[in-house]
Amino acid sequence: MTTYAQICRNGHILNTSPNPEYIQEYQYCQDCGAEGIVECPECSDQKIIASEQNIPTEDVTQGDLDLFCRSCGAGYPWTGNDGMVIREGVFVDDDYVTGSFDRQTVEEINRCYRIGANSAVLVLYRKLLENTIIEILRGHYGTDSIEKFYDNDNSQFHRFSVLISEFDDSRSELSQYSDNLTNALIDQIWEFKGNGDAMAHSIKYEVEDEELEEMSSGAAYVANVLLQARNEVQRAN
Ligand SMILES: [Zn+2]
Ligand SMILES: [Zn+2]
Repeated sequence: MTTYAQICRNGHILNTSPNPEYIQEYQYCQDCGAEGIVECPECSDQKIIASEQNIPTEDVTQGDLDLFCRSCGAGYPWTGNDGMVIREGVFVDDDYVTGSFDRQTVEEINRCYRIGANSAVLVLYRKLLENTIIEILRGHYGTDSIEKFYDNDNSQFHRFSVLISEFDDSRSELSQYSDNLTNALIDQIWEFKGNGDAMAHSIKYEVEDEELEEMSSGAAYVANVLLQARNEVQRAN
């Protein structure tokens, strides 16, 4: 069963219903005052669809919304100028990115953030943290202590949980590169790992738009501390 939606022109979700006849609740958005629409403003021939399933309003996120009309192909008003953007800003900034890997990953994270691909943001962000911790451990310990970050028996990098523990245990040595490798930072890394895992593995869990936006400043802080430490490690070794 389909879930139809009334959406304001800025992309706020006003109401949803399995019955398109009862979707119009208020005429204007209570958050921004923009007009609420229930069908494509170009062709008036296509109801706005939030999901192919019947899902409650509170479970609909901006990332679920169609970006283009299924009937005439016009971009919906919330798709923005380049046809994709549903929110402005970035999830993490790129102040300390240096390599092509982190640049590409941070760009992808922020692209997903702007188009409302919330789960993808957290999966990619987890990958950024994991890779940066590998680079820190590898830069500092080198191949002489490869067991710190590499599982020789299985010929692969350690699982992320093992990497965080090794990183945690190495903090007294790594503190020469950064003053910010605190217990609180480790706790935040564990939390973001958990979020990324939930998004990658669970079929039920979804992250709300506001929830993700609230995570952004903490996420940027953690990424910047790690990337900055990584840069110092690479400079010194
Ligand atoms: Zn609005
Ligand atoms: Zn249309």
